[in-house]
Formats: sequence, C-alpha cells, structure tokens
Amino acid sequence: MNLVLFGPPGSGKGTQAERLRDDMKLRHLSTGDLLRDAVARETELGKKVKHVLASGQLVSDDIVLALMRDAIVAVGGDGDLKGWLLDGFPRTIGQAQGLDGLLAELGQKIDAVVVLDVDRDAVVDRLSGRRTCTQCKTVWHVKNNPPAVEGVCDRCGGTLVQRDDDKPETIAARLDVYEKQTRPILEHYRGSVTLHEVDGAMPVDKVTRAIERVLS
Ligand code: AMP
Repeated sequence: MNLVLFGPPGSGKGTQAERLRDDMKLRHLSTGDLLRDAVARETELGKKVKHVLASGQLVSDDIVLALMRDAIVAVGGDGDLKGWLLDGFPRTIGQAQGLDGLLAELGQKIDAVVVLDVDRDAVVDRLSGRRTCTQCKTVWHVKNNPPAVEGVCDRCGGTLVQRDDDKPETIAARLDVYEKQTRPILEHYRGSVTLHEVDGAMPVDKVTRAIERVLS
C-alpha cells in the first residue's frame, strides 16, 4: 500500500508515520527528515537548504522531487516492504504533479491520502513545546509528553533540543506556507485519490487506531 500522510506542520504526521510503518511494513519517507539529515551531515545539498529550513520556507520543487525519486525507486528494490508512506511531501501543486509523473513512469499509484486535521492554535502549542532527541530523534513535548528529566531523552539518554524552525517566528511562517501552498493540493487529489480525514487532535493512540480503521 502506498500512502500520503497530509496535514499542517505539527499535526502528528511524523509520529503517526513511525507507528504505521512498522505495523504495515511501509518505508517512511519524510522530506523534512531527509533534508535535516543533509544539513546535519553538511553535504552540498545540506549547505544549500540550511537557511531555507531555518526560515520556514519551502525548498525548491526540483530538489525535493529529485530526493523523492531516488527514495521511492529504492523502496521497489526492498522485497520486505509493502509500499511507502510519504510524510511532508508533496507540499506544492508542482510537487504533486511531479509525483504523478514519477508514479506513472514507475507503474505505481497512491492508494490513499490520510489528512490529519488539527486547528491552528493546537498546532502552535504542539510545535512551540516540541523537543527532539539529537540521537534517536524521539519527539517529546514540554507539557503534553515531557521526559522524566528536563532536556534528556527517556529512551536513549540523548540531549533534547528545539528545532530551529520550531521557534515562534518561524512557526507562523510555516503555517502560512501550508495554507497558501500545501492545502490546495487536496483539491488536486479530490476525485482521483481516496481521501480520508482523521481528527488529529485526539490522543496519539486514538489517531493511530482511527487511521488503521479508515484504511482497513
Ligand atoms: P517538516 O519536518 O516536514 O516540517 O519539514 C521541515 C522543513 O523542511 C520545511 O519547513 C521545509 O523548509 C523543508 N521541507 C520539507 N519537506 C518539503 C517539501 N516537500 N518541499 C519543500 N520543502 C520541504
């Protein structure tokens, strides 16, 4: 099964993707994770996109489409996998069209788009309190899901940091980008791909169960 997880920054796409990928044997492909990894490793790509990520704006469609082409093609070569799960991609109409072209070329299709609905205030609260482990990447929240010791990951003992783009001024920019450039993609898919809307404001387990229910 090939899925797209859709929703604003902070709607829980990454958290849900981590759960679904294991249960459904899917490769979790997050453009945000791939780009952050390039920045951390200081690759040519990383140097090029570092300031874009920090500003909350979008990296160019060409760069992102090239990354995802390689990633999606690689899934086909792994016989243990049953498909892919896209998180944070596509984010513009151009990317959605590019993905359509790539999938036609590969003889693949999107089986469903799962939309996580969370209102703006809740998203701002989630993003501003989010802390990420520098080692195992587990995500915590200072109020809603705090670790036992402030600043230390319960799971691996790693240091927790706030992502540069989770700072208040950047959060507003990211949400504006979502409304203007990303949300319109839903109209691109309406009618051609099955869209499932799920209330992303529920507790994490409930959201996972709701997604599994709509997909079964
Ligand atoms: P995310 O972790 O999905 O919130 O992504 C973090 C940042 O990476 C975004 O604010 C963008 O700067 C960049 N990014 C991630 N995915 C994309 C995409 N599909 N297109 C363009 N930029 C992206």
